[in-house]
Amino acid sequence: MNFKSLRGMRDILPEEIRTWQFIEETAKKLLEIYNFKEIRTPILELSELFLRSIGEESDIVEKEMYLFEDKKGRKIALRPEGTASVVRAYIQNALFNHPFPQKFYYLGPMFRYERPQKGRYRQFHQIGVEVFGISTPSVEAELLCLLKDFFSILKIEGLSFEINSLGCKKCRPLYKENLNSYLKNKAPNLCSDCKRRLVKNPLRVLDCKVSECREALKDNPLIIDYLCEDCINHLENLKKELKILEIDYVINPKIVRGLDYYTGTVFEVTTNMLGSQNAVAAGGRYDELVQLLGGHPTPAAGFAIGMERLVEICKQTLILEPEKSLVYIAFAGRNEEKEAKRLVRLLRQKGIKTEAPYEYVSLKNQLKKADRLGVKWVLIVGEEELKKGKYRWKNMKESTEGEAGIEDILSMLEEIK
Ligand code: ATP
Ligand code: MG
Repeated sequence: MNFKSLRGMRDILPEEIRTWQFIEETAKKLLEIYNFKEIRTPILELSELFLRSIGEESDIVEKEMYLFEDKKGRKIALRPEGTASVVRAYIQNALFNHPFPQKFYYLGPMFRYERPQKGRYRQFHQIGVEVFGISTPSVEAELLCLLKDFFSILKIEGLSFEINSLGCKKCRPLYKENLNSYLKNKAPNLCSDCKRRLVKNPLRVLDCKVSECREALKDNPLIIDYLCEDCINHLENLKKELKILEIDYVINPKIVRGLDYYTGTVFEVTTNMLGSQNAVAAGGRYDELVQLLGGHPTPAAGFAIGMERLVEICKQTLILEPEKSLVYIAFAGRNEEKEAKRLVRLLRQKGIKTEAPYEYVSLKNQLKKADRLGVKWVLIVGEEELKKGKYRWKNMKESTEGEAGIEDILSMLEEIK
């Protein structure tokens, strides 16, 4: 039988992996500079965690979750996103006792049973951050600034920072009433999911991707017109901070985000360097989620960046440093094999990338192999040279060769370390 990977799941192969590593390392460095600490949570959680936080009527929970029962009949989900898990960990491990500010980041795979297409997979990866305990818009400003700095290091262009506010406990009910009466008239034109959402969670109708629903919702009332004074002030102060930080943004009143837990500020970052899946990052405030999941009331905000989409762009824009060069150790005959093994070990201990034959073949074939590997330096362990305490070296690129003791060889190889 021939096995294939599951639909929507892909292998990330060595030729692509260096771009991944570069992005991950760049992110980690920048996140440490912004004083975030890494957190790693399990990939499996009780599915209830996501139902409660992301919302039962959201697309993610309704259609996209990987669910199964474990041997004890517990309902388990593969995490579709990172925030709910980090909030769970925050409460469970009493991270609220840590000194402020509590700023965490994560990198890892997420799972959503979506229709696979370019830029959309069933296992994909996110870099995400969460900030707890601070309610001022300085947090959102910092998050957007971090995104801007990150994307600028990665040379990503044509960025658009789109911002909206989803209101709070005080202003959202009035908005919902107005939205409800608007949606009632549109009900016959809505998809069956939305007909149900209409009753249970009308805000979710705004996020529906079905074209009939989008058509019906062309002139829907916008939450931004219903914000209370606090929410208006919060948004105005955020705008002021973004101005200070010189971050261009647009207010997009249509952004609602696909998850229930957001309150107040939400944002999406898109780039024109991608095709139709052009969102590279998204996030916002979720001031009620910690309490909803059993913690103390704690304001919080965060974002997630989609790795696959970044990699897609960076494969074209980034010029990575060349890989470390490889040194190949060859040996003239079986008698020299032992000494060759010692030499390989020594070079590796000195931090030099080294390879050697795993079994004896003729010296000619060993050199052919070295050539195929594209190495510059070959060291040959030969009987005559060994007697003098030396090795033969070959520079394959410049077609030069000679004899040298180990100290000289090591200084010669300094250039490739
Ligand atoms: P979209 O509108 O593209 O479906 P989303 O609102 O579902 O995005 P979030 O849950 O906010 O996305 O996740 C943040 C980022 O993760 C997205 O902006 C995107 O870059 C990436 N992302 C989300 N779903 C996928 C997926 N199935 N495959 C690859 N990347 C994804
Ligand atoms: Mg989605």
